[in-house]
Amino acid sequence: MIKQALISVSDKTGVLDFARALSALGVNILSTGGTAKLFADNGVPVTEVADYTGFPEMLDGRVKTLHPKVHGGILARRDFPEHMAKLVEHDMPTIDMVVVNLYPFQATVAKDSCTLEDAIENIDIGGPTMLRSAAKNHKDVVVLCDPSDYAAVLAEIKAADGAVSYDTKFMLAKKVYAHTAQYDGAITNYLTSLGPTKEHASRGAYPQTLNVAFEKVQDMRYGENPHQSAAFYRDLQVCEGALGNYRQLQGKELSYNNIADADAAWECVKSLGGFEQSAACVIVKHANPCGVALGGNAAEAYARALQTDPTSAFGGIIAFNTELDGATAEQIAKLFVEVLIAPSFSAEAKHILSSKQNVRMLEIPLGQGGNAMDYKRVGGGLLVQSPDAKNVALGDLRVVTKLQPTQQQLQDLMFAWRVAKFVKSNAIVFCGNNMTLGVGAGQMSRIDSARIASIKAQNAGLALAGSVVASDAFFPFRDGLDVVVDAGASCVIQPGGSMRDQEVIDAADERGVVMLYTGTRHFRH
Ligand code: 5GP
Repeated sequence: MIKQALISVSDKTGVLDFARALSALGVNILSTGGTAKLFADNGVPVTEVADYTGFPEMLDGRVKTLHPKVHGGILARRDFPEHMAKLVEHDMPTIDMVVVNLYPFQATVAKDSCTLEDAIENIDIGGPTMLRSAAKNHKDVVVLCDPSDYAAVLAEIKAADGAVSYDTKFMLAKKVYAHTAQYDGAITNYLTSLGPTKEHASRGAYPQTLNVAFEKVQDMRYGENPHQSAAFYRDLQVCEGALGNYRQLQGKELSYNNIADADAAWECVKSLGGFEQSAACVIVKHANPCGVALGGNAAEAYARALQTDPTSAFGGIIAFNTELDGATAEQIAKLFVEVLIAPSFSAEAKHILSSKQNVRMLEIPLGQGGNAMDYKRVGGGLLVQSPDAKNVALGDLRVVTKLQPTQQQLQDLMFAWRVAKFVKSNAIVFCGNNMTLGVGAGQMSRIDSARIASIKAQNAGLALAGSVVASDAFFPFRDGLDVVVDAGASCVIQPGGSMRDQEVIDAADERGVVMLYTGTRHFRH
């Protein structure tokens, strides 16, 4: 039975209704200053912790609830007679429920104007202490740190005549330690990103100690290979529009490789906005795009993307930046597909694809947010970098040859460059008329990627004459350029920056092709 609850929250979302309902059930409510005022102002009976302990809140709120009468009431073991006798001896009723959320430390340090003093004042002390006490004694104390749990707990209390099940209490306690660990992690990240002295307390990008918090979405049957185990975790800072926000509408459970490939497809298709044709389709196999195209609608974009490499598209992951409609679904239903991703699926598309129950359908809102950081595990360590978020604009391009590009070529170059960013290095991407014609990916030499891209175009029966070609990094020698021009490219986009740039520019002039520099490289490993 919950007789007494202590409620002390910074984020007051939903707390008034929750307290009102508890009070109506006869629960005595204790609260700290701001929370107590909210309740009192709204007619919910409340006792201030200061009145309860006989100690005022002091030191600008640094000490509010740090008192034996609070912590004794939370921590006493209800099944230990000596503990209960001590409570009676010292006039300490039990506190059976703790509802706390913490000072907004992360939001405070996220502000550019935040000083070390601001950050320090936003380190909550009493809040985590109560949460940890209550979670330790979860067998007898209900602890809530997340407003989204209020409704379910209240429903359970009402249904079970004032009681909450052990399973719920244990689940809530686990949530608390995840929460306080993340909170302390955020404090550590912030403090260790500062210089060594107070005078040098300016913010550096990378903390000395890095704490990252992820929450499990699912276990998987296996990892990249069947003898590896695996699970998928969602970033607790997950941003709108990222794969971690997926909603699966149908299909088998996602595998490790499905998720990795779905991410590659989704990130690529998300980046294809701002072109004249607004629908984009990306087909991925083994983390590389094997067909990318724009179209007037989803069906057209799909048909064109599929043309690039229909052989590799078998068993592929297909992503759209627009609603997947019935016409497109009908076409896709003819192919063996592992995963489909789109911001939405029309009712007709859902109906058509329901006959292919193995196809995994993922709905993800089309946000442009991305991860704050990229991580890559190496043996005994972790590489951390900012994500490759740079998108080259037309104005960034520099023509380095005598020949100038046409408007159409400029369009195609922008498209090819956008796609090349998502192809594993060394990347060579032939394009024409807003679709990929040949993709050379992941080779150890650029010249081999160039050869492979042209062979793949030939295999697909796509002509490269007059095509544009993007190279994710510079051509170290003229030989790579010769291969793409021999294949039919008339326009080349690359970062520039090689020791032999002049040799390559001379070769482009000699071969009568246009070449532009982006000044930006897009290695992807
Ligand atoms: P209120 O708005 O009720 O005045 O304050 C609520 C906040 O105070 C909660 O975020 C809670 O975690 C925090 N809090 C509760 N007790 C203490 C304490 O003893 N010291 C500090 N620093 N914060 C506390």
